[in-house]
Amino acid sequence: MRQGLVLVISAPSGAGKSTLIRRLREAMPGLGYSVSHTTRPPRPGERDGVEYHFVDRATFEAMRDGGEFAEWAEVHGNLYGTALTELRTAAEAGQDLVLDIDVQGALQVAQRLPHAVLVFVLPPSWEELRRRLVERGQDSPEVIERRLANARREVSVAPRYDYVVVNDDVDRCLGELVAVVRAERCRPVRQREALDRLLGARATAASAGR
Ligand code: 5GP
Repeated sequence: MRQGLVLVISAPSGAGKSTLIRRLREAMPGLGYSVSHTTRPPRPGERDGVEYHFVDRATFEAMRDGGEFAEWAEVHGNLYGTALTELRTAAEAGQDLVLDIDVQGALQVAQRLPHAVLVFVLPPSWEELRRRLVERGQDSPEVIERRLANARREVSVAPRYDYVVVNDDVDRCLGELVAVVRAERCRPVRQREALDRLLGARATAASAGR
């Protein structure tokens, strides 16, 4: 079985991650999306089971204590987690999967799944990030300051990721994300079918891992 790509994408709020992930999935068929569990209430237009599985705190904590999460974290006062079943279902199908999770969760996934690929989306500058947060008109000045302080902490973890892309221009940045996915899909573990076809399954397995 081909090893599916586990692509973890993190970014501070306002860096444009949601748009990039949506466009990446449109551009690259076969990229599944890991639907997280969260205690955050749904925003207008969000559907249970699509953007998130919306659960109350007691349900989340019971799942966490029962070891049902591959990773979990508290972000802006709400709990978020990736259920193990999301990863298992994709792995069993050999499917590529995108995880939109914060830096705490990304580091937990990297520990659990050493083959996971971590991509960090950077804003072009702190000024531009502030401008985008203000323009969005979603938050009060205090909340914007909190988001910016949080963004600095998150960006400080970016050097530990496998790839860093700068979202100065959505189309250009999307091109880089597509390039990452294309390259990662060419790794031998994800080309099992082609290799087996030419070499036979036993020969591929014998030379795997060099
Ligand atoms: P939002 O509430 O705006 O959808 O997401 C807030 C933050 O939580 C984002 O940085 C997002 O990447 C992160 N997040 C969403 N789902 C998960 C998850 O399952 N685990 C972790 N660790 N972070 C998550």
